[in-house]
Amino acid sequence: MYHASSERYQEMIYQRCGKSGIRLPAVSLGLWHNFGGVDAFEISRAILLRAFDLGVNHFDLANNYGPPPGSAEENFGKMLRDDLASYRDELIISTKAGYLMWDGPYGEWGSRKYLLASLDQSLKRMGLEYVDIFYSHRPDPDTPLEETMGALASAVVQGKALYVGISNYPSELAAEAFRLLRELGTPCLIHQPRYSMFDRWVESDGLLDVLSREGVGCIPFSPLAQGMLTDRYLSGIPSDSRAAKAHGFLQAKALTSARLQQIRQLAEIAGSRAQSLAQMALAWVLRDPRVTTVLIGASSVAQLEQNLGCLGNRKFSDGELDSIEKILSQ
Ligand code: NDP
Repeated sequence: MYHASSERYQEMIYQRCGKSGIRLPAVSLGLWHNFGGVDAFEISRAILLRAFDLGVNHFDLANNYGPPPGSAEENFGKMLRDDLASYRDELIISTKAGYLMWDGPYGEWGSRKYLLASLDQSLKRMGLEYVDIFYSHRPDPDTPLEETMGALASAVVQGKALYVGISNYPSELAAEAFRLLRELGTPCLIHQPRYSMFDRWVESDGLLDVLSREGVGCIPFSPLAQGMLTDRYLSGIPSDSRAAKAHGFLQAKALTSARLQQIRQLAEIAGSRAQSLAQMALAWVLRDPRVTTVLIGASSVAQLEQNLGCLGNRKFSDGELDSIEKILSQ
C-alpha cells in the first residue's frame, strides 16, 4: 500500500505556467518510453511513485505511448487506481492526440473526429473522468486550424480536459492557434516543443519569444536529447539503453564521433560545476525564465533522482555559457 511522502512538497520548485493560475514542478516526468507494455511494470511504478514523493506531480502521456500504443496510459491508469487515487487533486495529468492510433482516415492528425474520439479512449485507458491538459500533438497541414483548436476547446467545454496545449507547432502557427483558442474562451496553457543543447529550434524560430509575449507556458521535451546529454554513451552503447533497444526512438547512428566529442567536453564543464552532465543539461534548459518545466524521461529511480539534482544549481556564469556555446558550435 503506497502512502506518499509527507515531505513531497519541500524540495521541488513550482513555476507559474505562462499567465495561467497553474504552477508546475520545474521537472515533469514523461511516459513516452519506460512505461509501456514491453517494460517491467514494477520499475515503471517505482519511478512514478518516487517522482511523486519528490514533488513531481505532473505526468505527461499521449495516446500512442507504449509500445504497444495505448499501453503507457493503461499502465498509468493502473498505478493511478492502485496507488495514487487519493491524490488525484494533487496531480496534473496530460495526454495528447495527433499520431497514428487506429486504422482508417480518422486515426491520426488533427480532425475534430479523431481528437475527441482519442480523448475518450485515453480517459477510458487511464480510468479518468478528465485530464488536466489535452494537447494537439502535432500540427496537421490538411485540417483547418480552426477545426483542431475548436476540438480542443470542446474537450474543455465537455469537462474532459481542464486546459489545452499544443505541441510541435512552429511559432507563426502557434501564435494563430493561441488567437483562436482565446476567441473560443479556452486560452492555451502550454506549448510542448523539443528543446535541448542539441536542438535549439525554439530559439531560432522565435517560439520562446512568442510564448512569452502571449503568456503561454513552455514544457520542453527530450531535454537530455533522449539520453545523449548524459554519461550513458561515454563508453559505448549499453545493452539496456534507448539507443540499443529495438523500440527505442534514439538511433545509434546519432552518436557520431563528433557528437561524442561534444558530450565529453560538456561533461567536463558539468564536472567543474559539481554537476553530472544530465544535471547541467537540464539546468541549461531551465536557465531561461520562459521555460516553465523540463519534461524528462527516466528508465530507473537512480536516473530520476540524479536528474532532480539539477535544481541545486541552475545559474550559469557568462564564462560557462560561452564555453558551452563554443562546444555546441563545433
Ligand atoms: P530525455 O531527453 O530526458 O531522455 C530520457 C532518457 O535519457 C531516459 O529514458 C534514459 O534513457 C536517459 N537518461 C535520463 N536520465 C539519465 C541519467 N541521469 N543518466 C543517464 N541516462 C539518463 O527525454 P525523453 O526523450 O524521454 O522525453 C521526455 C518526455 O517528453 C517523454 O516521456 C514524453 O512525455 C515527452 N515527449 C514529447 C514529444 C512530443 O512530440 N510532444 C516527443 C518526445 C517526448 P535510457 O533508456 O537509455 O536509460
